[in-house]
Amino acid sequence: MSEREKVNLVWLKRDLRLHDHAPLAEASRRCLAGDKALVVYVRESDYWATDKASGDQWGFVAECLQELAKRLERIGCPLLIVESPSAEIVLEALLYQYEITELLCHQETGNGWTFDRDKRVFRAFRERGIPVREFLQNAVVRGRSAPSEKPQHQSFWRDWLSEQQASHPEFWRPPSTPPAIPMGYATPDLKTPAHVMRQRGGEGIALGLLESFLNERCLLHAGYRVEMGSPLHAHEACSRLSPHLTWGSLSTKKAAQAAMAREPRHPHGSMMHRNSFHRRLRWRDHFLQKFESLSWMEFRCINPSREALHGWDKAAYERWAIGLTGYPFIDACMRSLNATKWINFRARAMLVSFASYALNLDWRRFAPHLARTFLDYEPGIHYSQLQMQSGTTYGSPPRIYNPIKQSLEKDPAGEFIRLWVPELRDLSTDAIHLPQDVSRSGYPAAIVSPGSLWRVMRSNGPKTQNPKTKKPEPQLELGI
Ligand SMILES: Cc1cc2nc3c(=O)[nH]c(=O)nc-3n(C[C@H](O)[C@H](O)[C@H](O)COP(=O)(O)OP(=O)(O)OC[C@H]3O[C@@H](n4cnc5c(N)ncnc54)[C@H](O)[C@@H]3O)c2cc1C
Repeated sequence: MSEREKVNLVWLKRDLRLHDHAPLAEASRRCLAGDKALVVYVRESDYWATDKASGDQWGFVAECLQELAKRLERIGCPLLIVESPSAEIVLEALLYQYEITELLCHQETGNGWTFDRDKRVFRAFRERGIPVREFLQNAVVRGRSAPSEKPQHQSFWRDWLSEQQASHPEFWRPPSTPPAIPMGYATPDLKTPAHVMRQRGGEGIALGLLESFLNERCLLHAGYRVEMGSPLHAHEACSRLSPHLTWGSLSTKKAAQAAMAREPRHPHGSMMHRNSFHRRLRWRDHFLQKFESLSWMEFRCINPSREALHGWDKAAYERWAIGLTGYPFIDACMRSLNATKWINFRARAMLVSFASYALNLDWRRFAPHLARTFLDYEPGIHYSQLQMQSGTTYGSPPRIYNPIKQSLEKDPAGEFIRLWVPELRDLSTDAIHLPQDVSRSGYPAAIVSPGSLWRVMRSNGPKTQNPKTKKPEPQLELGI
């Protein structure tokens, strides 16, 4: 057998960028010292066939990969992109062609599928005596020493943030024999449709969004802190960085350091918004850390006594998922999400609350619809939030949103409803917020009567009585 060429292998996962990329920085440093290195991304068809993944998410990833390939080319680094059922097939094939000195990659806090795949890959390498080096890309630690409680995590986050970002890879030395794609596996199609309503992927877009948010958009209208609750304005007043953080076209550290670096030079008031943004980035890593330690929360209730809290009704689920519940604001939010693949926090929480409490649906059965529809599906945030909004965690009281109150508060003129539920466009502003008594022009009657919704809110919610008079609250005051 001829001698195999020695290379370091960088395996990309949800870290599709050049900035603050420790595995690429390390490989580049080794290339400067005379080593060779190869970078590979595997489109794992078994993952993309799961019920938590979607073509829109893949389209976003494909756009990130196209841009990254161009950026890497500028430093003389070809990017190998291969499609196979799972990454270990391609990575093991490369082991036959090259003498891999080390596998360099980021630690991923993913769902059950990606965690099992990581274990298979690492086992295959370790069995052959090849070291694997996983770098942190978030303030998240694996194993027993993990700082999963909030105060410890806060101080860990501060330390992690005070560290420098990984340096830009400047130099590359690829192997002299190009990698042979394993038989039967091809380069995936990276073309994505021109006309889509979802956000576009790519490091350049991510960096542009970060700049525009910190310099201008966080001050739009009443500012980020207020507008994040408004379905009409949140899409421009929020950072919109979530899919970039999820798929790694932006590093959390870069976003958080940029937010804190701006203070002195920027207009009065913007600091409050930037602090609020910064806090959310910390929450992000806090939830990821929790999920790293309690990854079973993807499948089981955090509070085991809530396992049988909710049930299932397929017909109700199907109406909820396409925005045909007969509750105009709920349907507007769901249709907007289905079309654009993003909706603001409050609307996400309300959609989950409606599914769990009004329709009594088990979160596990409707979670995949949201996972594949959110362009930013991030398991660590997703399952914690789903369970909090469904009332299956410990401690916090049930968070039951009143869809009519939300509609009146967040969309007082009914503009958002008219945009996404055009069947109701000609209703008066007073009528447009209310669940429909009878079906009209293709729009259905309410899936549950307001009376039964009030009963659920009254029996669960903390605001069921006025604490002073002990009298029941007016119905529209019930819930959040
Ligand atoms: C049921 C439910 C499911 C959710 N699922 C996801 C998910 O899969 N992926 C996801 O990124 N976010 C999820 N969120 C949190 C939140 O809604 C989104 O992060 C946010 O709407 C993304 O838009 P943005 O980037 O403009 O947010 P911004 O308000 O600009 O926030 C900046 C970043 O902070 C993080 N962040 C914001 N809010 C939270 C929060 N409450 N908890 C933890 N981190 C936060 C996100 O990374 C976000 O990109 C979920 C919320 C709910 C209620």
